[in-house]
Amino acid sequence: MSSLAATESTEPVLCSNCPAICCQLKVLLLPGDDVPEHYIDIDEHGMEILGKLDDGWCVALDRDNMCCSMYERRPFVCREFAMGETDCRDERANWRRIAISLQP
Ligand code: SF4
Ligand code: SF4
Repeated sequence: MSSLAATESTEPVLCSNCPAICCQLKVLLLPGDDVPEHYIDIDEHGMEILGKLDDGWCVALDRDNMCCSMYERRPFVCREFAMGETDCRDERANWRRIAISLQP
């Protein structure tokens, strides 16, 4: 079990103790976003989204440190996803439930 799954109830909600859970979510690009062209994909509705790798993480995630490689240019949706707020806590809780359910 990951440290997050084991310690969620006692640890504070911090990106530094989170395996970049929100960087597996679908990110719709909006007018005004300025992300590099090679990170852009098109979804089933023809909308521009951030591309993902086969394992589900955003193509812009730096896998060496699990931080955003284009932090200053991250799109609006990512800027609005604030650490410790409801969406963040909900995604962490979902992730924890899945991690626990996969335990042998
Ligand atoms: S914003 Fe929340 S879900 Fe995203 S990396 Fe930080 S703690 Fe994890
Ligand atoms: S652009 Fe950055 S913050 Fe947004 S999902 Fe990708 S890696 Fe995460």
